[in-house]
Amino acid sequence: MLLLDGKATALKIRQELKDTITTLCHKGLRAPGLAVILAGNDPASEIYVRNKEKACEGAGIRTITSRLPATVSQAELLALIAKANQRNDIDGILVQLPLPAHLDTAECLLSILPDKDVDGFHPDNAGRLLLGLPGLRPCTPQGILELLARYGLACAGKRAVIVGRSNIVGKPLALMLAQPGPVGNATVTLCHSQSEDLADHCRNADFLFLAVGRPKMFGREMIKTGACVVDVGINRTPEGICGDADFEAIKNQTCAITPVPGGVGPMTIAMLIKNTVQAWQAHLGLC
Ligand code: NDP
Repeated sequence: MLLLDGKATALKIRQELKDTITTLCHKGLRAPGLAVILAGNDPASEIYVRNKEKACEGAGIRTITSRLPATVSQAELLALIAKANQRNDIDGILVQLPLPAHLDTAECLLSILPDKDVDGFHPDNAGRLLLGLPGLRPCTPQGILELLARYGLACAGKRAVIVGRSNIVGKPLALMLAQPGPVGNATVTLCHSQSEDLADHCRNADFLFLAVGRPKMFGREMIKTGACVVDVGINRTPEGICGDADFEAIKNQTCAITPVPGGVGPMTIAMLIKNTVQAWQAHLGLC
């Protein structure tokens, strides 16, 4: 069994991106800038934002975080995004989700300029992904494919089963895996809460991607021997953080598996930096 170490891989990618930034800044170019917007005081969001800030700053990205009260109005939030859209020194805008319930998430995400949409959630970027055009890709699926690629694991021609069809993980991952190209070409099945025979689908998977959010839901009976399991789930339990897979029960049955924590999570943050660098280079006219 190969442990797919997202933490070590993400650190390597972050160093590569830092080197890119340093080289270009030494040539006199301005540093990349990222605007982070956090509304409300959800403790998990606070942690995610702090981790993202730390990682971005470590890579040489200037990060400007706006912490807004949970009572912030839609108009105030949109005005803040509009300001960040206009600033030439801001290359990326990240609105930490979930937003407080009274705010319109779709409207906020739509108001971000597509070329600053470093989360890759804007319909323009989602459409580009669908059509196979260049654009900013959602960080989690992009991080998953990058992790597999760095371990030389190719899904081409294989049966890839994804459980979970969210807009930020399952759906874009399905598109990326199905598209032609070196990291795609898989035969993709996308499962969800209404799927019949879920266990059968999972047992058929050469590559199984779990993005449900239910602790240890996937045990031995759901896994094909020799499968590669990528666990996206982050579940907080009294025993600590765990994934959607029952890691200890299935690890020896797999050919490769991501741990939780230390698998997909760190890769997601590395891809945020990658997207910010991509947006920065585009704004500088370098690509
Ligand atoms: P969502 O809640 O948006 O989606 C969950 C999906 O799981 C839905 O499609 C739902 O189906 C499906 N589902 C729920 N119950 C079942 C079931 N019993 N059988 C089959 N499918 C089921 O979650 P996200 O995609 O946002 O996140 C999923 C997990 O990944 C969470 O634990 C989250 O914390 C984690 N995550 C981790 C990231 C990382 O960087 N590591 C990044 C993003 C998320 P239906 O559509 O029918 O409701």
